[in-house]
Amino acid sequence: MQPHPKIRKTVKWTGAVLTVILVTLWVGSAWWTIDWWGESGRVVYVERGMVGFASGEVPGKGWSLNPHAPELRWWWNRSVVKNDQWRSMPIWMLVAPLATATAIVWRLDGTARRLALSGKCARCGYDIAGIRGTCPECGAGADETRPRSG
Ligand SMILES: [Zn+2]
Repeated sequence: MQPHPKIRKTVKWTGAVLTVILVTLWVGSAWWTIDWWGESGRVVYVERGMVGFASGEVPGKGWSLNPHAPELRWWWNRSVVKNDQWRSMPIWMLVAPLATATAIVWRLDGTARRLALSGKCARCGYDIAGIRGTCPECGAGADETRPRSG
């Protein structure tokens, strides 16, 4: 059974927005380092295609954005600098599954809408042109079988 259209629509747009944000961060991080130094001295940073965590040495510094020579890295990294542990993971590892899942949801939604517009049940494909209410074949509700916007 497919998820309810409203849920599908939410997942679809949330997935798309998150994918765009992550891709933007990823591309931007090839030229820029974004980091945030918390009060406790922890650092979260996005740099060279990686997102990383470390225990920094300038507590409470807050946000900073610094340019660097263009570079992208592709694999897990872990290093120790002056007793600080730096761990980072490649952003593409977050983007790839998210973009794939989002593409699948968009595809499902497109198929459902096409079926609905052609007078067929979005869930089972049964021809429900002229039928009001639930689908006689699979029992899908009217909100699931009728065309929607968005
Ligand atoms: Zn049906």
